[in-house]
Amino acid sequence: MKEEEHIIDYILKVTSRKYETKICKSYQNKRAYEKRKKRIDDTIFYCEECKQCWSIVTKAIDTGGFRIYPSGNMPSIGKKRKKCVYCTKKEINEN
Ligand SMILES: [Zn+2]
Repeated sequence: MKEEEHIIDYILKVTSRKYETKICKSYQNKRAYEKRKKRIDDTIFYCEECKQCWSIVTKAIDTGGFRIYPSGNMPSIGKKRKKCVYCTKKEINEN
């Protein structure tokens, strides 16, 4: 009986340690996110004219060099207000 109890204690210790290391890893990931130099909110802008979020992306992702997110998919709170590429082109053509 005593030996069985010891085994159970050992298993409990091991599992709890594994659980702790998992938690520590998740915290480390959060810290890495906080220390990022580029935040996602700084790269995504919100256009007030067409009411859509847009961001400058590399040409490997999109050939135009920018991507417009359809309205409703991206929250506009906290985004910088900036005219998108389409609206600036429209202005240039009108003038
Ligand atoms: Zn726009």
